[in-house]
Parts: sequence; structure tokens; C-alpha cells
Amino acid sequence: MSKIESMKIVLIGIQGAGKSTQGNLLSEKLGVPYLSTGHIFRELAKEKTKFGRYVKEVMNAGYLIPGKKTLAIVTEYLKRPEYKDGYIMDGFPRTLSQAEFFKDGADKVIYLKVSDDEALKRLSFRNGDNGAREDETPSAIAKRIGLFHKLTEPVLDYYREKGILIEIDGEETIEEIHQEILKKINGD
Ligand code: AMP
Repeated sequence: MSKIESMKIVLIGIQGAGKSTQGNLLSEKLGVPYLSTGHIFRELAKEKTKFGRYVKEVMNAGYLIPGKKTLAIVTEYLKRPEYKDGYIMDGFPRTLSQAEFFKDGADKVIYLKVSDDEALKRLSFRNGDNGAREDETPSAIAKRIGLFHKLTEPVLDYYREKGILIEIDGEETIEEIHQEILKKINGD
């Protein structure tokens, strides 16, 4: 495998597209830490504080955590030494203003393309260790998918114009998708 010069990778896709599965595989393969804003917010939602309760409520409804708070939290995390040489980011940026704020935070952006129907099918089958989360109710999922089309699709255009968007068919097998991502981030 040829050397990959840059390691700031962003994963984009609707819920159920396989971002965390592929993000973790990629993280292991490249030795670059995986970071998920959804995970950060789920941890914050457990806190018995006013902000924790607020985050929980917003997440369970399927809405996005409003602007400035998200930016402050992500910025704070990325200051940690483990992310100095890069990261695989899942869940951010999700809006055009987040993408503009993120500026040179992304070297390569991977769009895991999965139809709404396929994502809904996968989410309804989640069980066992990877079981449905508290914020995975049908109405929250529908809300999140709707917000993806409205708010996150412009982010795809933004990165497409910058020439760093990599589109991947997310409906292949996990291994095939992983190989396809590796090939494309190497520029093959
Ligand atoms: P996820 O696990 O990426 O689906 O995120 C779960 C929830 O966390 C979302 O529905 C939002 O409420 C919140 N969240 C995650 N990332 C962001 C973000 N970039 N901006 C705003 N809210 C976010």
C-alpha cells in the first residue's frame, strides 16, 4: 500500500450507512484515531447536569445540537494530543456552516452512499451488542434522515467543489467497502 500523506478523514452518510463500522476498520488499518461526535454527545447526555439533560432531549428527538456548542465541543476534543496527526471523524461536519468553520479540518471526505430504504432496513435489524440506542426511535431516525438531505447534502457539494470528496457505494459488503475506501484514499 502506498503511503497516505494526509490523515484528516471525514465520514459522511445517513444513519445506518455504516460510518462507525467503516470508521473503526479504517482507524485500525491506518493507525489513526476514530472520533464520533454522536458518541461524544451520547456521553454528555448521561451527565446529570442541565446541559446533559438538554443534549439528551435534543438527541432523542433526532435534532442536531445547535451551532456554537457543537463547534466548541469538537474544537476542544481536537486539541487533544492523540488527534495531532489526524483523525477519522464521524458525524461532523453535518451542516454547511460547520463545514465552513472546520476549514482545513478535512483532507479527504468519504461519502458512504446508501439509500434511505436500505438504511431503514438495517436500522430495524440492529440488535445484540450493537443494539438500538435510546435515540434510535423510528421518529428520531426519520427526523435525522430528513435533516441529512436538507442540511448535510450541501456539505457534500462543498467538499465536491473542493475536490476532496470520495463517493463510495455503501451497499456492498463490509469488506468490499473497506477495500474500496482504502483504494480511493490512496488515489487509485
Ligand atoms: P450520530 O451518532 O452521528 O447519529 O449522532 C447522534 C446525535 O448527536 C445527532 O442526532 C445529534 O443530535 C448529535 N450530533 C452528532 N453530531 C452532530 C453535529 N455535527 N452537529 C449537531 N449535532 C450532532
